Amino acid sequence: MSNHNWTLETQLVHNPFKTDGATGAVSVPIQHASTFHQSSFEEFGAFDYSRSGTPTRTALEETIAALEGGTRGFAFSSGMAAISTAFLLLSQGDHVLVTEDVYGGTFRMVTEVLTRFGIEHTFVDMTDVNEIARNIQPNTKVIYMETPSNPTLGVTDIKEVVKLAKENGCLTYLDNTFMTPALQRPLDLGVDIVLHSATKFLSGHSDVLSGLAAVKDEALGRELYKLQNAFGAVLGVQDCWLVLRGLKTLQVRLEKASQTALRLAEYFQQHPAVIRVYYPGLSDHAGAAIHKSQSSGAGAVLSFELESKEAVKKLVENVSLPVFAVSLGAVESILSYPATMSHAAMPKEEREKRGITDGLLRLSVGVENADDLERDFEQALKEIVPVAAR
Ligand SMILES: *Cc1c(COP(=O)(O)O)cnc(C)c1O
Repeated sequence: MSNHNWTLETQLVHNPFKTDGATGAVSVPIQHASTFHQSSFEEFGAFDYSRSGTPTRTALEETIAALEGGTRGFAFSSGMAAISTAFLLLSQGDHVLVTEDVYGGTFRMVTEVLTRFGIEHTFVDMTDVNEIARNIQPNTKVIYMETPSNPTLGVTDIKEVVKLAKENGCLTYLDNTFMTPALQRPLDLGVDIVLHSATKFLSGHSDVLSGLAAVKDEALGRELYKLQNAFGAVLGVQDCWLVLRGLKTLQVRLEKASQTALRLAEYFQQHPAVIRVYYPGLSDHAGAAIHKSQSSGAGAVLSFELESKEAVKKLVENVSLPVFAVSLGAVESILSYPATMSHAAMPKEEREKRGITDGLLRLSVGVENADDLERDFEQALKEIVPVAAR
């Protein structure tokens, strides 16, 4: 598909798997099979055993590789399976630099699992290139980024980190879940491995758990393939199909949701009950300029801070459209409360240092009508006494 130079928007719909070569079906076949008959004694076909590959999974893997501008893609049973498998490239004695506001599951993997295998880590503020540089050690093998990060949308300068990594012989990993290739293509900026929780925007309908990885370098692709096959946390064929179906509407979902996110961010910003809004599309967001230089949109996730836990409770009890849940990136708006959801395990002091106060809410904007969403928040926020009035 890439030889035609179609835009990503078109590629999402018209990929090599848009019709089935055998029947003409305008949908990827879900090929249930654990093993494949070899018609020749001497030479085996493209597939042998399903952990190693299936036609349905290949369709998804080649699709994500093309969308990210890579040579090779990999589908896993969850985002954490993709991330954990990528960490298996490390060996005992290695060190990894990780963004301090990394996803909670990645935090757990790095601090509670990798440490048992003698793989060390340092958490750094990745909005500060100097701090990253200062913390690189002789045994640092990976710099792990997430940008914009969760839940305060901190922005990392991808090109600067890639430069630093190359000077120091490290690989760079980037969790691109919040942006997707529709808004940000890290491999084009020199990142070695791009990782996704495809559970979120890529599949987009809160109905499947999945993870993806993509690489440009072919040798690295072979290494990662070996680890995918060795560890075995692969994505089943039904779920591959769900992700492929979700991908077709990625651009339209994300464009619409991003437009509404900007509008809601501006709405919250002027609301007297709201103390602070975090959204990379707001010009006063720290990192807005860097974000703009390395991506084509601000995305559909924003966070905003109310004065107290009581105010948050009131808002959550009074809104009717968003679901109140963990997760993000779906057609329905999702409101979540980091203090007791994604960051519950983090001590209060650590949390607050990162801006994750008891008043902070994260909103993943869906594809509902923007007026309806604003009206819903308007009536719910009316219940909360404005900050200035106290
Ligand atoms: C959800 C999420 C993950 C983990 O993905 P799962 O599919 O839940 O395993 C990783 N990174 C980010 C940024 C996420 O939002």
